[in-house]
Amino acid sequence: MAKLEIHQFPCLADNYGFLIHDADADVTACIDTPEVEPIRAALRRKGWKLTHILNTHWHPDHAGGNVALRDETGCQIIGPANEQDKIPSLERSVGEGDVVEFGPHRAVVLDVPGHTAGHIAYWFEDDGVAFVGDTLFALGCGRLFEGTPAQMWTSLGKLMKLPTETRVYCAHEYTQANARFALTVDPNNAELVARAKEIDDKRAAGEPTVPTTIGLELRTNPFLRAEAASLQETLRMVGRDPVEVFAETRKRKDSF
Ligand code: ZN
Ligand code: FE
Repeated sequence: MAKLEIHQFPCLADNYGFLIHDADADVTACIDTPEVEPIRAALRRKGWKLTHILNTHWHPDHAGGNVALRDETGCQIIGPANEQDKIPSLERSVGEGDVVEFGPHRAVVLDVPGHTAGHIAYWFEDDGVAFVGDTLFALGCGRLFEGTPAQMWTSLGKLMKLPTETRVYCAHEYTQANARFALTVDPNNAELVARAKEIDDKRAAGEPTVPTTIGLELRTNPFLRAEAASLQETLRMVGRDPVEVFAETRKRKDSF
């Protein structure tokens, strides 16, 4: 099986665009369509022809470029079944457990509601890669616009069970701000402290902090650490239900 090539590039103020490509099968997908021109430019530069769009959720910085790109390329648009009405350009709608075939590669669809009601993630198990949209960020998670803390905790729980080495492509470069918040709720986590410093260095050098990995997030992302003693102690919520701890962490971040 040819390697799944991944090309990452900035869009809008802080989104990332991702093109994935398999050379043998000559297929190219765009994960979400935050902004048309940078996507066009990336396709030109790589010499790839767009065959698929894989949407994670309906927000305009994720599906806003669908129609223009489809009209130019005739690509197939695949996205969340539970947001079909909000993404009228979908040609195929998918949900939990569905498999999206991409040349020889396969993505398993995970329903991860919370940020939006129908948000999905694409897990390329054999390639060790997950595209998680606005559900999980490096050191953060999406705001709960259309879901409850319990729903989001369940969704994050699905991602937490992926193999630790899975490379996680999140849709925004929010990491530096997320790190500043994370340090307020988990200040005694030595690996988080060290990571925050690395993130500052990377951003100062103009480098992306995406992708991350499930393992790194499990050890340092406060939104995945509702069961961790160090976080519970800082929040004075020792022994409390992880949903409550997660909800409190999310609430604090919303007003940080
Ligand atoms: Zn969003
Ligand atoms: Fe977004």
